Amino acid sequence: MSDRMIVIGGGLVGAAVAFGAAREGLGVCVLDQGDSAFRASRGNFGLVWVSSKGAEMPRYAAWSRDALKLWPDLQRELQELTGVDSGLRQVGGFWLGFSDKEMKARYELLSGISRAVDGIPFRMMEPSELRHYLPGLGPKVAGGSFCELDGDANPLMLLRALHSGLIEKGADIVSNVDVVQVRYDQSNGVFEAVAADGQRWQAERLVLAAGLGNARLAPQVGLQAPVKPSRGQVLITERLQPFLHYPMNKLRQTVEGSVQIGSSSEDVGFDDGTTPDVIEWQVKRAVAAFPALAKARLVRAWGALRPLAPDAYPIYEESESCPGAFVVTSHSGVTLAAAHCYVIGPWAAGLSQTPPDFADFSAERFRDPNKSFSHAH
Ligand SMILES: Cc1cc2nc3c(=O)[nH]c(=O)nc-3n(C[C@H](O)[C@H](O)[C@H](O)COP(=O)(O)OP(=O)(O)OC[C@H]3O[C@@H](n4cnc5c(N)ncnc54)[C@H](O)[C@@H]3O)c2cc1C
Repeated sequence: MSDRMIVIGGGLVGAAVAFGAAREGLGVCVLDQGDSAFRASRGNFGLVWVSSKGAEMPRYAAWSRDALKLWPDLQRELQELTGVDSGLRQVGGFWLGFSDKEMKARYELLSGISRAVDGIPFRMMEPSELRHYLPGLGPKVAGGSFCELDGDANPLMLLRALHSGLIEKGADIVSNVDVVQVRYDQSNGVFEAVAADGQRWQAERLVLAAGLGNARLAPQVGLQAPVKPSRGQVLITERLQPFLHYPMNKLRQTVEGSVQIGSSSEDVGFDDGTTPDVIEWQVKRAVAAFPALAKARLVRAWGALRPLAPDAYPIYEESESCPGAFVVTSHSGVTLAAAHCYVIGPWAAGLSQTPPDFADFSAERFRDPNKSFSHAH
């Protein structure tokens, strides 16, 4: 057998997990669909963010916090190995509120998380203090919060760096492959992935990191991934002189100068289009935050689909009936990239123990028919 681990999905999640295994010396084969695939990894906002994460799941807040700490190592390793800069900036990040009600809710949310989990600091700020960091802030802003751990990255460059890193480590990346079946042979412990065109790959370990595709594949190896699409629309302005020196949850200026405005959360099935009403709402909010943006030209808008679990938290689980098969899915693939690489990769490769309290991330939580889920995304 030439490959020891098959990873289905070459988006940010699959590529990070695969790189984490390949850098440990495992033979890895990544199978990925073609350009027609739904790929959140190519349409996201690029935040590397912990603020407000995990209000109902402290393990997730801690996981995001720890992922942020690992990110500089990933940035450095990928840059040294591939020469590609993933654009990590961990300068702190802001959230802006437009009413006292929003400010109060934000304070309660962040202080609840901070009480539950150590090491996620935050500071609420009045508009006068905010302007010190964010000159040009409009009069409609009622205040904001700041977290020194937050930041952003260039998600496309991160994806490219991970793919280049995989190639450097000898992994195979096979594109234009639609895996329709995965199966496990109990007699020899070997997994087989079968593509729509009949191609087959075999390995002793299998990672399902196919984003929305996980929902269909996971049950075939005794796992569950009840992920559904959540559309986000993102807008880009022409390049402007640098004026935003910190990322915000709905607004950031890239190093190239474009201002990225995002991102909505819409339950519209598999429609990844854009709509004038959402674009208008996002633009109004951005201009309310920074009135100078009224003069900026929008050059592009797109929609992309987040793979979202019913409670919007990740699913990480090894199959009990097919040991060696893992499901890995998360709607924060940029934020969690380093944790997916340095923690999930070795775990799925069989090189490390299950991380502490990982039962919290099992899809078991969705199996109770009397339980209902909601999420803020
Ligand atoms: C608008 C928007 C904004 C976002 N903002 C942020 C942010 O600021 N920070 C952050 O951390 N996250 C953000 N996210 C979430 C982030 O983009 C996702 O968590 C991440 O991209 C998920 O990566 P993935 O690899 O699981 O899925 P995807 O990127 O969807 O990739 C899945 C891959 O699996 C492949 N695949 C699927 N089915 C099969 C199959 N049957 N056979 C072979 N291959 C298959 C597809 O080809 C695809 O490449 C945002 C998402 C959106 C949409």
